[in-house]
Amino acid sequence: MRLTLCTTALLVAFGGQAATLIHAGRLIDGTGKAPMTERTVVVDGNRIVAVKAGYQAPAAGDQVLDLKDATLMPGLMDMHTHLSFQFAPGSYSEDYTLNPADYALRSVVYAKTTLDAGFTTVRDLGDAFNVTVALRNAINKGLLPGPRIYTAAKAIATTGGHADPTNGSAMHLMGNPGPAEGVINGPYEARQAVRQRYKDGADVIKITATGGVLSVAKSGQNPQFMNDELAAIVATAKDYGMKVAVHAHGKEGMLRAIHAGVDSIEHGTYMDDEVFKAMKKAGTWFVPTIIAGKTAAANAEIDGLYPEIVRPKARTIGPLIQATFAKAHKAGVKIAFGTDAGVYPHGQNGREFGYMVEAGMAPLDAILSATRDAASLLGVSDKLGSVEAGKLADLVAVPGDPLADIRLMQQVSFVMKDGQVFKQ
Ligand SMILES: [Zn+2]
Repeated sequence: MRLTLCTTALLVAFGGQAATLIHAGRLIDGTGKAPMTERTVVVDGNRIVAVKAGYQAPAAGDQVLDLKDATLMPGLMDMHTHLSFQFAPGSYSEDYTLNPADYALRSVVYAKTTLDAGFTTVRDLGDAFNVTVALRNAINKGLLPGPRIYTAAKAIATTGGHADPTNGSAMHLMGNPGPAEGVINGPYEARQAVRQRYKDGADVIKITATGGVLSVAKSGQNPQFMNDELAAIVATAKDYGMKVAVHAHGKEGMLRAIHAGVDSIEHGTYMDDEVFKAMKKAGTWFVPTIIAGKTAAANAEIDGLYPEIVRPKARTIGPLIQATFAKAHKAGVKIAFGTDAGVYPHGQNGREFGYMVEAGMAPLDAILSATRDAASLLGVSDKLGSVEAGKLADLVAVPGDPLADIRLMQQVSFVMKDGQVFKQ
């Protein structure tokens, strides 16, 4: 025991602490550079300390991870998840049957599924009972395996809007949810709701600027926030150092939000050239969630799965997102990877890469959208999103070459987060 302590102290003193050497057959480093072959990534503690050409020999005490047959990449980042939810028959009655602990316990399972799929960071955009705040904290403490979470906690809507939690309820159960529950009317309540999210421990603000597909309400695209409400949300969020993510399908709601200075538009179904122009001018990100649109469209054809008021919305809006993505990409709008995980089963996030490539994005750009670009949207480019010395050691690998076959992004075989191996 004593000898071990002394040896460790000596090694640290001489800068010779034992490291982990990852021998990667191919490296996509997330900076935008072309893939490299035969690289050694050196990890010390929770940091990447060097990336070297060739397969470096280990020094005494170093650990070697052999990924010579694989492609190593930065940990993947999904900018739109719902870790406390997963759609299933009966989901629409959960408000009346589940307790906060039920949401919390299942979110633990979905967090692990997400990490196993190679997503080492997620932005969670709407939960119930703030369970993803507690989930984030538990993961950060090392109590549970899961991705780094940046959470919006409960999303903010207006009365009857897409994230009003009592839509579709019988009137005697509806109550009158307010800013604490994520429902606002007017700029004062908008400020209160943002400040409450800060107090609740949220990292980011999510609002529902237009109607949505899965809510029990007629319109999937009407504008649901007014300009003074949007201005109050953005100004307050800025004061508290939080970015604003905006659910939007309809054009008018999107334009109002973009002009108010929000950071990202989610889904974006009815974007057109005018919207693309506004987004490029304002620097607004687009988070497409193609997989969610496809899933909703398919589910709409199954009798009894969605309420009747939801089915026509899912049929019309769902299939359009991929074409919108293609146009936005062509127009040069900034795109960050996001899937709306929970609308489809957690862990299948990697399918989105295939849909992006099918719609005309180069495979390397699709991977960059989930690494470099997602880190930029989150504002964490200094520590995540690329495989470079000084960055946190979040690394994943797939067998073979994902640029030749993008479906390999669904077969992540190695996951390291914060220097710790979770899957090998
Ligand atoms: Zn969502």
